[in-house]
Amino acid sequence: TKESVKGFLRRNLFVLLTIAAVALGVMLGFALRPHNLTLREIKYFAFPGELLMRMLQMLVLPLIVSSLVTGISSLDSKASGKMGMRAVGYYMVTTLIAVFIGIVIVIVIKPGKGHRDSPVASSSTIEPVQAADAFLDLIRNMFPPNLVEACFKQLQLLWINVNIMWMVVLLLQETVVEMIPVSGSSNGVNALGLVVFSMCFGLVIGSMKQQGQALRDFFDCLNEAIMRLVAIIIWYAPVGILFLIAAKIVEMKNLAEVGGQLGMYTVSVIVGLLIHGLFVLPLLYFLVTRKNPYTFMAGLLQALITALGTSSSSATLPITFRCLEENNRVDKRVTRFILPVGATINMDGTALYEAVAAIFIAQVNDMELNFGQILTISITATAASIGAAGIPQAGLVTMVIVLTSVGLPTEDITLIIAVDWFLDRLRTTTNVLGDSIGAGIVEHLSRQELQSQDVEVGNSVIEE
Ligand code: ASP
Repeated sequence: TKESVKGFLRRNLFVLLTIAAVALGVMLGFALRPHNLTLREIKYFAFPGELLMRMLQMLVLPLIVSSLVTGISSLDSKASGKMGMRAVGYYMVTTLIAVFIGIVIVIVIKPGKGHRDSPVASSSTIEPVQAADAFLDLIRNMFPPNLVEACFKQLQLLWINVNIMWMVVLLLQETVVEMIPVSGSSNGVNALGLVVFSMCFGLVIGSMKQQGQALRDFFDCLNEAIMRLVAIIIWYAPVGILFLIAAKIVEMKNLAEVGGQLGMYTVSVIVGLLIHGLFVLPLLYFLVTRKNPYTFMAGLLQALITALGTSSSSATLPITFRCLEENNRVDKRVTRFILPVGATINMDGTALYEAVAAIFIAQVNDMELNFGQILTISITATAASIGAAGIPQAGLVTMVIVLTSVGLPTEDITLIIAVDWFLDRLRTTTNVLGDSIGAGIVEHLSRQELQSQDVEVGNSVIEE
């Protein structure tokens, strides 16, 4: 019909615009590089991109809260429990597979073999943090005293949403770890605090039956309003992405520096991410749903490119929601429940990268790893990926835990800083892909519960 043709065109218009934005951004960036812009000029040039980041981040708080509260309160506790278990199962399986791929590739390619390259200069000032502080911060961050502030305050990246396993390792090691302040982009969201609060709140409202209806309606309406804002911001997204990418290319260090070991390390991470994102996740989707995974992925293109542009899974969250609900027609009860949690704890790309980076650093140091140590790396890389927040370069900071767990020098993180901005974008894209495919898989597995809930009254609000 005319409507569906129009809808189809509109969707593809956005995708085309976004792809064009990436291409234009790359060209513009390289065209401007020879002009040696001053820092101030680069700052102005980056401004349209910075605005996109801020707009997206602005939506993350109300989006996480409203979607989790309505998502959970609209399901009965049995259904949400089952759905949650499936999601967690999927997260664990895919993250472990990602780590495994990373380990195999870095052992095969051996990027760190040979003489040690001199580290590419890093501008970071290093500030020591005690393990005990980290433990307290974990608990602290679970209970944000001010929900609004939880979203906007500058976060100390390392301690945002650390996972228990990570803490145990840290405490055992009693190590003083170093924290690397990451390039200016630490404006983030205390997502763990929000997720914990919203889930509890949703459960309570759900148990209030009729009495809770007003609050359910309120959050449902809030969610709808936010998604309408997203629909507006999406028009601006290609412009923002263009400038985010162009500005990064203008300011990046000379690529010629990234030769030798670092180059091979970069290739190892990229190969691993490609295998995981283009083959493993699609295969898993196909095996479970028997549907074409690449059609599903085509619907996600805009979210994937936004992840590439912003290097933040939580900033991409609004677009991920839109792609899944509008293009792929994933049930809103699933996306609302699964996506905010996934963006916070499920990071396949980060886990893969952490494993590759740790083993790379071991190779550079001529350190032979035994099976036990490799196992330790896979466990801590998984923990570090759960602990990393969905903000730019969070994974670089949580690397500390993987390195300390097998006694590798944490200062060697400086070896990989030079290429991290780039790998961060790629692993964030993989993270977003993993979350989205997870939503598709959980929806498929939960169709019985969803159907039986359809029969009950009260869910019509959420239905299309
Ligand atoms: N930037 C990544 C994300 O937002 C996290 C990381 O640094 O690995 O998903």
